[in-house]
Amino acid sequence: MLKFYSLLDKLDVKISSKQELILKILYKSKMPLSALQIKNIATNKHNFTISMPTIYSILHKLEILQIFIVSYIPFKKTKYYSFKNVQSQSYLVCIKCERFIGFKDMQLNHLLKQSLAKENFILLNYNIALHGVCKKCLNKSL
Ligand SMILES: [Zn+2]
Repeated sequence: MLKFYSLLDKLDVKISSKQELILKILYKSKMPLSALQIKNIATNKHNFTISMPTIYSILHKLEILQIFIVSYIPFKKTKYYSFKNVQSQSYLVCIKCERFIGFKDMQLNHLLKQSLAKENFILLNYNIALHGVCKKCLNKSL
């Protein structure tokens, strides 16, 4: 958790306890989270009640700090927040159950580097969301 607090120091802004909790939840999460998911984690894991309007207003304020990547699911309004990461991240996003699934494919990484080298572009990191239908939802519709 040391990294988290050095990150807060870098931000150089005064942060309330509610803001800190939201940042901590997002920092710990491996997947992007919606405001509702953040609320549920705050309630269930941290015994902390925050109203939805408060979460929205905090997320809006924190968005200005440009420390998040905001993801969307096609044709849905919900914003999903994750911390900007120096490491590459790729997700599979199910458009039916709106679930983010971690996805590691070394071949994809290799292919990207190869094709970008042809463009004389050095790939440092990437954030990719691949949209589709997950196995669970596919089985349901059969
Ligand atoms: Zn699904």
